[in-house]
Amino acid sequence: MSNNVMPNVSVADMPDRSLLMDRSVPGRKAINLPAPDVPLSEMPGDGLLRESDDLQLPEVSQLDVIRYFTLLSRLNFSIDTNFYPLGSCTMKYNPKLNDQIASLGGFANIHPLQDDDSVQGALGVMFELQQWLGEATGLPGVGLAPLAGAQGEYAGLLIARAALNMRGESHRDVALIPDSAHGTNPASAAMAGLSVVTVKTDESGNVDVDDLRAKADENTCVFMLTIPSTLGLFEPNIIEINDIVHDAGGLVYADGANLNALLGLVKLGDLGVDICHSNLHKTFSTPHGGGGPGAGPVMVTEELASYLPEPVVVKNDDGSLQLGRPGNSIGKINGFHGSFSILVRAYTYMQSLGGNGLRAVSENAVINANYVQAQLRDRFDLAVDRICMHETVLSGKRQADRGVPALSIAKRLLDYGIHAPTMYFPLIVPEALMVEPTETESKETLDRFVAVMQAIDDEIDSDPDSVNHAPHTLPNTRLDEATAARRPVLRWQG
Ligand SMILES: *Cc1c(COP(=O)(O)O)cnc(C)c1O
Repeated sequence: MSNNVMPNVSVADMPDRSLLMDRSVPGRKAINLPAPDVPLSEMPGDGLLRESDDLQLPEVSQLDVIRYFTLLSRLNFSIDTNFYPLGSCTMKYNPKLNDQIASLGGFANIHPLQDDDSVQGALGVMFELQQWLGEATGLPGVGLAPLAGAQGEYAGLLIARAALNMRGESHRDVALIPDSAHGTNPASAAMAGLSVVTVKTDESGNVDVDDLRAKADENTCVFMLTIPSTLGLFEPNIIEINDIVHDAGGLVYADGANLNALLGLVKLGDLGVDICHSNLHKTFSTPHGGGGPGAGPVMVTEELASYLPEPVVVKNDDGSLQLGRPGNSIGKINGFHGSFSILVRAYTYMQSLGGNGLRAVSENAVINANYVQAQLRDRFDLAVDRICMHETVLSGKRQADRGVPALSIAKRLLDYGIHAPTMYFPLIVPEALMVEPTETESKETLDRFVAVMQAIDDEIDSDPDSVNHAPHTLPNTRLDEATAARRPVLRWQG
């Protein structure tokens, strides 16, 4: 099998020249500035100026700069270059049309403080997006402001607290969260001032309903459930679960970060969910990874809509649109109205696919994940042996018993030009490898991934050391992660 390594980048490009500063030669310049044609002004006083000796800037030619940044861009691993089955992150192809539309002047060159009447088109995009997200989730109250999934969770939890306060139940301060939950859930709950009580998962990967029943009580604020679960499974007892929480007087929060298995198939509101968020940067195809930008709108029942974060787009009687503050709003959760250019990309994606297209997205995402699961199940243990949704969680336990942990399998995949799956998550699965192929990958790509996983499994018998020392073909091999975390080197020093 040919190793499809990172394109055209050789390790020889890197040593000693890995920083622009290393390419600096005194006196070398990238541009010549024309003589000033404005009056020169005084420099600020000494107190505000650094000694020029302290200020070490690279002295490089234009070609040096171009080569350097082009090299860096080729070192980037991206969905545009390689298969990227990073579970829970939904690294699908982002159609370039989204970027073209988001760069139109009417979207790209407006200012958040412009008068509403001068940006009716932009508000129209936000208004329709609110309606579509309400329709897709069955939760008609939509706030687009949150800048990430985690911020959507935080906003949703503040809404839950505010609504319970209004009912005179401010003592409810517990978030019930399954042990399989995404890590942001307990973090957001803590940020919202809730204490976290963990609910167990049963052997079939479902919420342990008896454990939930025992823990849902007069202190329950919310039950936070990731749907589909982080095991990539649909929760068959969801209706009963929601009834238990509601009977105890609490609210149900669905972490719908990934709607990639549900579009056009299941509406969270129909299942009895009160609040959810969704990551537009996952399901609705906007580039992400490396920390942003994102968009994590929060969706709620009609009853809770008055608590949404400010602003939401509202339609006046004359048909005009404006930014408004819901009556009981939890207030602003960031400066303006969210990641507008991400909202435009998500809108473009939905508009270009239409309702049937979005349904096909989810159907194909589920088929792709199940195809990979079926092809690999004789070599790798499954976290739970069930039909999965948009992702499958493998366990590398058999491989670990043969001396190669999941970490090494993930590193070895990089040599074959495939991004590692999400590892060691969910925490309840030993040696977890969470694979999310997404709907945009072809059967050929999935077959190659399967063949590579089988080849690595063979290598574990023939040459385990080589797998344990992977990657071999990348500019960096195994990093000293402990030292990197404790003594990070974040800038160039002479
Ligand atoms: C990605 C993800 C989140 C967090 O989203 P961010 O935008 O990274 O804050 C939360 N829950 C689940 C299930 C996710 O997959």
